[in-house]
Amino acid sequence: MLEDSAHPSDRLLLPRWIAERIRHFNYQVIDWIDLSLKSSQAPESVFKISTEDIEKIREPASDKAKLLATSFLMVEPTLSKVEDWEALIDARTTTQISSLTDACPSLGQVTRATFYYQNKAYISLLIEVLNMSFVAAPICGISLDVARFLLQVPQHRLESAIARSAFPLFRWRITVPLFWHDLSTGTLKGESLMHYLMRGSPVRIDDLPAAELIGDRGFTRLQAETYADFFLRLGARASTVSESFHMTATAARSAYKRIHDESSPVGKKPTSVAWYVESSRNRMHATVFTWLYRAALGAGANAPEAHIAAYALYRRQFGGDFVLALERACSLTRTMATDSTLAVVACRSCGTPYIIANNDTKVELPNRYHCPVCTNTLNHGRGRAKGKIDKTDPS
Ligand SMILES: [Zn+2]
Repeated sequence: MLEDSAHPSDRLLLPRWIAERIRHFNYQVIDWIDLSLKSSQAPESVFKISTEDIEKIREPASDKAKLLATSFLMVEPTLSKVEDWEALIDARTTTQISSLTDACPSLGQVTRATFYYQNKAYISLLIEVLNMSFVAAPICGISLDVARFLLQVPQHRLESAIARSAFPLFRWRITVPLFWHDLSTGTLKGESLMHYLMRGSPVRIDDLPAAELIGDRGFTRLQAETYADFFLRLGARASTVSESFHMTATAARSAYKRIHDESSPVGKKPTSVAWYVESSRNRMHATVFTWLYRAALGAGANAPEAHIAAYALYRRQFGGDFVLALERACSLTRTMATDSTLAVVACRSCGTPYIIANNDTKVELPNRYHCPVCTNTLNHGRGRAKGKIDKTDPS
């Protein structure tokens, strides 16, 4: 069991081979759903995607790689509640299970077998991601409750449940018409994709606590050394690491130098609260990080673990286009845990929670707030953050 040999580095970084399996599954499942739709094995109402939508993904204008070659699964479970999963495992039925079963009638032996293998591949990937990452719930599009439940189901019971399922256990994750418009016009951006994933996710930042500070729980020496190493690799300055993890300034500076082959930046750290809401792009990046961070805390991570897991996934997802440096991410979580100069509200148009300003220099009215995608302002204020940003790929 994991608990017997738990190491502080467990579940912090999504291993490359799992990220690769997610990408492969995204590509493969689209072809599989297309075939199932065309051979009437299961209807559009179950998969939440049509053959016309799939054609849109395949059109040259659509940026297929941006959509499918990500670390996020593009399908989510057809069962979204713990009660439905419990019933499936116990061989009982619920309204959701019956409606899925009724929608996929008269499965022959061959169809049944293809459902079984595809469901098995999906669930085994889901369980692997859950075991390997604190940010599994956002990656898989599931709630924290379902994540917790699935982690404790014995494998043989899950296997029997999959064998009994006469319907697909997954469906397409993004159902907003605007998404299909963006995709077919070639205007889907990395940021808007994250918006659609946040919008449909059962993990909402306005439902989760603003959370704890680094150091609230205290660490063992092994934990402190492990966290310090990850923080440095993700671009934290030596001073941040020495303050956070009880390391001497000299030791932190030399560790930074060893990892990056140059000296740690000195001088004032970025602490401007205004930065996070200065442009739609900054707001989007700060909100995506907060979404992943709070999900990690909700999955049982402590504050340093949540910073590492969320920031590593954020960086991996945006690649060279990331704008939120780790120092800013730390400053953001500290601000949100200790004062109310920033707040989280749901967009009045689409309901997706976003970070808004609530301070002396800028107040955004919660009952009038519309997000960057609904106001189509993501192109405004483009450009990299000023100053030096770490170049090391930690993953
Ligand atoms: Zn919106």
